[in-house]
Amino acid sequence: MTSIIDGEAVAADIRDDLQGAVDDLADAGARPTLATVLMSEDPASETYVSMKQRDCEELGIGTRDVELDADAPASDLLEVVDDLNADPDVNGILVQSPVPDHVDYRDVVEAIDPEKDVDAFHPENVGRLVAGYPRYKPCTPHGIQKLLAAEGVDPEGMDATVVGRSRIVGRPMANLLSLKEDGGNATVTLCHSRTENLAEKTRSADILVVAADVPGLVDGDMVGEGAVVVDVGINRVDADTEKGYELVGDVDFESAKEKASAITPVPGGVGPMTRAMLLWNTTKAASRQHGVDVTLP
Ligand code: NDP
Repeated sequence: MTSIIDGEAVAADIRDDLQGAVDDLADAGARPTLATVLMSEDPASETYVSMKQRDCEELGIGTRDVELDADAPASDLLEVVDDLNADPDVNGILVQSPVPDHVDYRDVVEAIDPEKDVDAFHPENVGRLVAGYPRYKPCTPHGIQKLLAAEGVDPEGMDATVVGRSRIVGRPMANLLSLKEDGGNATVTLCHSRTENLAEKTRSADILVVAADVPGLVDGDMVGEGAVVVDVGINRVDADTEKGYELVGDVDFESAKEKASAITPVPGGVGPMTRAMLLWNTTKAASRQHGVDVTLP
């Protein structure tokens, strides 16, 4: 029987376990606070930001909600980041991407204090991850590590293939899986659009993580017998539904399920974990900044 990995349930467990840490911090006068910065009129970005705020509120994590006109100068956004960096009551800063074209996202990421960089995109945090002593781990790959652990999958000694080399998912995922630490110690192959014989690389994987943004890129023929398949992709495809679309992953779920020992669904797999790990990083940030030790799940 193939196990369908329930990301909603694992994320709920992590949120429950985080509650104790958030309460302990609040009791010590160090309630975690996340600032979200939105510089976009894109409804999807607005929805993502309000979901993140709601997640925080449910756990008693404080929020700051900063919104800027999409046509404001880049310097306004950088000033907001500076103010949040200097505010001792703000522990985590998240600038929702994409930012408008006239803003260089790299400038924004580099402006965030690395201690408050709960996305873990600042080059200092990327560097620490690659060097093997991460301060914060990026939410999606960190969430995938937690999902694997919850499923009883220890990557040590396994062959892992990651499809996609983005800075937010693929590359940090490959790094985390290859680190010499719990949840790592795998032998990792990192694939991308120039990879030749992709199917050969995916089929040989014990753990296959797909983050390519291509609906159904990986089908059952490309999955090895008994592999653990993690589908990161979220793609809107036209469908005869009320909304006119449905969400599908980068993996063809039905055919891959026939070969996999365990597989994440879309939606309900990786997505909820990404959201939970933002709360995790914000809690860790508050603990670090206030010097109050708490146990994180
Ligand atoms: P990017 O578009 O930044 O990166 C996609 C990567 O896939 C690139 O490295 C690209 O290669 C590679 N790729 C594209 N086509 C192929 C192909 N045919 N064969 C092999 N590799 C290919 O995407 P992201 O990493 O940001 O996101 C990936 C997916 O995950 C998206 O659908 C996104 O919506 C979803 N996502 C889901 C999250 C969640 O919480 N569930 C969180 C973040 C993202 P190259 O570098 O050569 O161009």
